[in-house]
Amino acid sequence: MQTVALISLGCAKNQVDGEMLLAALEAGGFAPAGAEEADIAIVNTCGFIDSAKKESIEAILDLARLKKEGVIKKLVVTGCLAERYREEIHKELPEVDGVFGIGANGDICACVNEMLEKGFTQKFPQKERMPLCGARRLSTPEFTAYIKIAEGCDNRCTYCAIPLIRGGYRSRTMESIEEEARALVSGGAKELVLIAQDTTRYGLDLYGAYSLGALLSRLCRIEGLCWLRVLYAYPDSITDELLDVMAREEKIVPYMDIPLQHASGKILSAMNRRGDRESLTALMRKIRKKVPGVVLRTTLIAGFPGETEEDFQELAQFVKDVGFERLGCFAYSREEGTPAAELPNQLEEEEKERRAQLITESQLGIMERWGRGQAGRVLTVLTEGYDEDAGLWYGRSYMDAPDVDGRVYFTALEAPAPGDFVEVEIEDCIDGELTGARREGAFL
Ligand code: SF4
Repeated sequence: MQTVALISLGCAKNQVDGEMLLAALEAGGFAPAGAEEADIAIVNTCGFIDSAKKESIEAILDLARLKKEGVIKKLVVTGCLAERYREEIHKELPEVDGVFGIGANGDICACVNEMLEKGFTQKFPQKERMPLCGARRLSTPEFTAYIKIAEGCDNRCTYCAIPLIRGGYRSRTMESIEEEARALVSGGAKELVLIAQDTTRYGLDLYGAYSLGALLSRLCRIEGLCWLRVLYAYPDSITDELLDVMAREEKIVPYMDIPLQHASGKILSAMNRRGDRESLTALMRKIRKKVPGVVLRTTLIAGFPGETEEDFQELAQFVKDVGFERLGCFAYSREEGTPAAELPNQLEEEEKERRAQLITESQLGIMERWGRGQAGRVLTVLTEGYDEDAGLWYGRSYMDAPDVDGRVYFTALEAPAPGDFVEVEIEDCIDGELTGARREGAFL
């Protein structure tokens, strides 16, 4: 039996694709293995921005070295980079034996078998053929799982290559999402994290209306499910109905991840996004009012073409005014094939980095103050493990999405098991991470 190692890079959406690829390969007779023991290595790449592309290429080169040393026999590239740079991969990386676009994900076994039989193979069926659901081999701990509720994007932000790579927005049916959610909960998942390129658009294509609220209400009925988390909300489609459902349903954690990208009306318009500092501040206020205790995460881009010092200061002030609990700021990445790449007044790399760094530093201060203000609160924490070096247990509260946010570290006289919910009294915030002590006897 041939063994296969799958290395998934990039975001949680790609991670779910990787989980589906691995399950399909297993069903097709391939046995999963680590990269050092596998016959075939598959890199499920990310091609979103420059730094992600570099990481993908480095991973391919590392595996190419293993192939040269005879550790692995075949090397396959799938995912966004394969979709976006199909010709270049073949030309520039001759060690690669197979390049398969996302439209081939449903036929991965046939593609790999053809490659084994005939040598170098590439397949790029229509992206719309990509399966939106299917069996998965989870790469997350069994108590947490992602669910992809839609694929692609219709927003056409001018800096973003995702619509080129992944195609237009397509929602899964509520039935198929609920079925998958029930199966995951039966398998031990306590927390489900809903993802898509844009989760708040969910249902518009299928049901003619924004339907995320209805979907969430439906999922909340699943017995055994404790936490439901939604990532990647698009500001224009955050409806009052959605906020009401979030406020009403106890299982939906009061956490919103809304990548806003900028706050200056001029820059947002150049990004093909709507709103300005005033309207976005008002939206953030409304969310805070409607969803008590909500934690807000956003992602911003600094140094977009034409961003003047004044535009940047507007962004910096917005960050201070809103006081996001979580925030990531990235330097604008000029992506070929996107309208923004052709805009005049591109900024120097150094200046973009300087601006992103300034926002990041300002945010660190905000988060540090906010973190220390949490002292005395008792938070429900989903235990993830034990840190030997620190001699502390750790987990996540409702304020922390897996992988992107911090952890809560805590002492415990009674050892919890990974997947246990415990109550932790917060005592401090050290380097952005909350620390505290478990309230003994409080198993939830
Ligand atoms: S919403 Fe904008 S940034 Fe996000 S995936 Fe769609 S086009 Fe890209």
